[in-house]
Amino acid sequence: MNCFRSILSFSSAKFPSRTCTTLHRSAARLRLPISATSSRGVYTSQISQGFGSVAAVKKDSSGSGLARLDDDMQRKDLPIVTANERKVTIGWDTKTWSRFHNIWLRDHCRCPKCFHPITKQRLLNTFEIPSDIQPLGIQRKADGLELTWQSSEPHVSFYPWSWLQSNSYDPAINHAQTIIEKVEWGTKIAQSPPTVTYSEAMDQDDRGLFKWLTDIDQFGFSFISGVPPTPEATEKLVERIGFIRETQSPSFLRKQNCECPLTPFTADRPRWTSTISPPFPHRWQWGATLLADGFYVASILKELHPEYYDILSRVSVPAHAAGEASSIYYPSPRSGYPVLGHDPCTRELVQVRWNNDDRSVMNHLEPDLVEKWYEAISAWNKCLKSPDSEYWVQLQPGTAVVVDNHRVLHGRSAFDGKRRMCGAYVGIDEYRSKLAVLRERFAPDTVQRATDHLPQANINGRNIWNSAL
Ligand SMILES: [Zn+2]
Repeated sequence: MNCFRSILSFSSAKFPSRTCTTLHRSAARLRLPISATSSRGVYTSQISQGFGSVAAVKKDSSGSGLARLDDDMQRKDLPIVTANERKVTIGWDTKTWSRFHNIWLRDHCRCPKCFHPITKQRLLNTFEIPSDIQPLGIQRKADGLELTWQSSEPHVSFYPWSWLQSNSYDPAINHAQTIIEKVEWGTKIAQSPPTVTYSEAMDQDDRGLFKWLTDIDQFGFSFISGVPPTPEATEKLVERIGFIRETQSPSFLRKQNCECPLTPFTADRPRWTSTISPPFPHRWQWGATLLADGFYVASILKELHPEYYDILSRVSVPAHAAGEASSIYYPSPRSGYPVLGHDPCTRELVQVRWNNDDRSVMNHLEPDLVEKWYEAISAWNKCLKSPDSEYWVQLQPGTAVVVDNHRVLHGRSAFDGKRRMCGAYVGIDEYRSKLAVLRERFAPDTVQRATDHLPQANINGRNIWNSAL
C-alpha cells in the first residue's frame, strides 16, 4: 500500500520634558520639573500626593479660554492628568508619563458619532479636525479620561485608562496586543514537540483549536496526532483554521506515486505554508521530515556574525516560481525581500525567507557587497545546517504537522518507494484572524479585561477597545 502524505499550505516617560503645566505643592516633593507657563494659558493640575487628584483649576493669562479641569478630589488612585494647548499628559506613576496630542485624541474618539460601534470603522472626518483643536474640559473618571471638545455642539470623548496606557506612543510603554512570546528551538525540541490531538483540534468548543494555533504562533509548527487516515479528514482539519487557498497548483493537492528526492530547506514562497502529513499506514521507506527554526538560526547568526546578520537583513533577494509553462511567479517588488525581515517599528525579526533554489539573478547587489553577501549566505547556510539546528523527525501514520512558512524552514530526506501526497495552502491572514478571535474569547488582553464591563463597549460581539482596532 502506498504511503499517503498531505501538504497543506497557508498563503498568505519619563516625566515630560516640556510641559506648560503648573504643578503645585507636591511637585517639589515628587521632584517634578515645573516648566514655564504658556503665554496663552495652561491647564493647571494639582497633585495632592503621589497618584493624587487633579484639581479643576483654570488659568488663562490671555483670556482665550482653555480647558476646564473638573475632577473628583477624593480619587487619589487615578492617574495624574495635566495638559497644555497641544497635549494632554497622563502620569501613570511618579516616573511614567504619557503625552497625547490633542489632534490624536480627537481623531481616536470612539463615541458612536465618531466610530461605528458595529463595523468598528471611523465615522469622524479626520480632515475636519482643526489642527489647533483643544479640549474645553478634562475630567478623570474611575475608568478613564473624559474630554469635552470645542465644536459647534458639545462633543464628549471618553478613553479608558488601560487603552490609553497600552497605546502610549510618547513614550511607547506597553502595547497590549497579546504578543505570545516566541520559543526559539533547536534539535532538543524533539524531546517535547508541540502537539495537539485530532480530537482536540476538531472539538467544537474551540479550546483545542486555540491551543493548536497558539502553539504554531509560539513555535512555528505543531503536530497533530490521531488524524484519521483519509484525505477528507486532513482537509477538514485544515479548514478548522481557514478556507483553503487557491494556488497555481490544485487547492488540495493529491499526488500519488511521487518519487521523492531530497528537498532542500525552504521557507520563502509568498505564502504561509502548513504541511500536514500522513495519517496513512505505509510500508514504504519514508523520507524523514526536516524542520529548523529560522528565528533560532537567525539568533545564532546574529551572535556569531552580526555583520552578516545585518547584510541578510538589508539585501533583497529576488525569487521565482516558473516550473510550469503557464505561469511565472515573482515577488513584488521585483527585487524581493531580505532573508531576514523585521518589523519596521519594533525591529523585531518577523519573517525568514530562504530558498536558495528559487533565487533569481542577484543583479542589484552593490559591487562592493558581492563577496560579503556570498560570505553572509554561506554563514547562514552553515548555521542552518548545524546539527544543533536541524530537527529530523520520522512522521508516523496518523500524525500531521503544520508549519509556519514565515519562520520554520522545512525539507525532507530522499527515500525509495512510492507515496501519495495531498496538501493545501491557507492564507496567513485567515490564520491570524482565527487566532485573534480565539484569543479574544479565551485569553483577553489587559485592555479587554479592563473595558469589557464598560457601557456600550461590547457591541455586536466585539469590544470597541479591542487592541486589534
Ligand atoms: Zn466622538
